[in-house]
Amino acid sequence: MSAPDAARLLAAADFAARKHASQRRKDPERTPYINHPIGVAQILAQEAGITDIAVLQAALLHDTVEDTDATFSEIEESFGEEVRRIVEEVTDDKTLPKMERKRLQIEHAVHSSQAARLVKLADKLYNLRDLNRCTPQGWSEERVQEYFLWASKVVRVLHGTSPVLEEKLWLLFKARGLPE
Ligand code: NDP
Ligand code: ZN
Repeated sequence: MSAPDAARLLAAADFAARKHASQRRKDPERTPYINHPIGVAQILAQEAGITDIAVLQAALLHDTVEDTDATFSEIEESFGEEVRRIVEEVTDDKTLPKMERKRLQIEHAVHSSQAARLVKLADKLYNLRDLNRCTPQGWSEERVQEYFLWASKVVRVLHGTSPVLEEKLWLLFKARGLPE
């Protein structure tokens, strides 16, 4: 990796870390939230072999607009139009009710760019592994299973994006007894 690429990647990690600073994951240990976007970018680099810096930056930034005060303009200013577009594609409309957002993720997946599809797959893989590792506080086993079922519907629409990631996801769905 060239020095400018490393700098771009680290700038995105720094931006995300600052924006998510006060947030925690839902696991019982309340892991710092930043571990999630870093883990999503790591899945793409390490497990899917992605070297496109814009995709890896978007993975690091993917929850900043949805979950913090970050704006798309801020992202475009710091990281350019391509990264802004990918982040925009993977950001849910927070003005909509949660159930509607989940339905739209399935619907929108089919129109996504390859870059956005990769981030979506890695995001699901990270979250499902997290759920297998431990159940979030207050979640019933049924709620966990419902999450797996919903994720499997999103992943089905993304078929053909990354055989490596899809294979790993389908093994997790199969272990939960979900149909292929
Ligand atoms: P949430 O959307 O509230 O939680 C899942 C999201 O939390 C993930 O997509 C992930 O998003 C983030 N997250 C943070 N920490 C973790 C972690 N440790 N493991 C996995 N994900 C984590 O919940 P659901 O998607 O399950 O459902 C929301 C809907 O479910 C609502 O409409 C609600 O009304 C309904 N509901 C259902 C219940 C049930 O028993 N079935 C009970 C209560 C509500 P990110 O990648 O953005 O961080
Ligand atoms: Zn996420």
